[in-house]
Amino acid sequence: MMCFQCGKRKARIEGLCEPCFLEGQPPLFIRNLKLSKCKECGALHYGSWRDISLEKVVEEHVPVDDFDYRIEQRDMVVTVSVVARQWFHENQTHAFVQQTQFTIHVRPSLCDQCSKMLSGYYQAVLQVRRQDHLLTEEERALIDSIVVSNLREKDFISQIKERKEGTDFYFSTSKAALRAAHILRKQLGGVVKESYTTVGMDRQKGTDIKRGTILFLLHKYKPGDILLCQNEVFKVISSSQKLHLKNGYSEKVFPWKKVEYLESENQLQALSSSKYTVKDCQVIDVTPSQVLVMLPDFETRYLKRPKDIKVKVGNWYSILFFQEYAYWM
Ligand SMILES: [Zn+2]
Ligand SMILES: [Zn+2]
Repeated sequence: MMCFQCGKRKARIEGLCEPCFLEGQPPLFIRNLKLSKCKECGALHYGSWRDISLEKVVEEHVPVDDFDYRIEQRDMVVTVSVVARQWFHENQTHAFVQQTQFTIHVRPSLCDQCSKMLSGYYQAVLQVRRQDHLLTEEERALIDSIVVSNLREKDFISQIKERKEGTDFYFSTSKAALRAAHILRKQLGGVVKESYTTVGMDRQKGTDIKRGTILFLLHKYKPGDILLCQNEVFKVISSSQKLHLKNGYSEKVFPWKKVEYLESENQLQALSSSKYTVKDCQVIDVTPSQVLVMLPDFETRYLKRPKDIKVKVGNWYSILFFQEYAYWM
């Protein structure tokens, strides 16, 4: 049987030859697109605000499975040329190749996240402080980097305020602020306290709008501090999960509950620098149990030999003097 349209070739598909059948297929048509693009973060609004590339939008938009495309961008107008290969019938011997173009108009805009962020929106403030102290510059820098590097993609911090006593982070959600506080506690030790106040009413959802204040409080003892503990002087080695104290003779590791107990019993306190002196002393002689040292004023004294410090004759060591006691530090 011959093709009933052209009468020249053998009929293969629905009474037509293949060229006549393909000629009868609808032309390839792809509708033009208008896209908003966030000026701040580059997100595109395709269905919703999404962090996707223009290529990904093209791939989702073209209603054909097998195609190649080329993108040409001029300012805000993108021209996309598409070559598609389609199969309309199982008896087709080769793919039907069609070409077309469509345009994407890109409109600068602000995504929901960025407009909230730029307007200073926040749901919770994370306040970072150290008990009884101001935060140092190093502590602030460390805390900033921990907080910022652990921020999840959907969350944002609309403002960071450096205050005299510490840093305030204004978070997009209470959940994100609380999460940051727990990450800080895990890495640095300390306590997290939460409080919430109702600031309004969400009319659509019929629920209260709450604003959170999350307080992350570092413990008051920090590495390098000198403490008097059970009548012995120690240096703080670390103060994260537990309080770790050390001097030349012994070492102590206390959970924070124990720290609170010792404080209440007046067995643990910070030693202010006016109460002790640290002197560089030279070792004159070493015996199995004692070390003879010379102080800066040439006075010599026998001290108990430290356990963890290798003492060599002629070398200089920092020794802390408190009342009648001396400590290798
Ligand atoms: Zn034909
Ligand atoms: Zn944005």
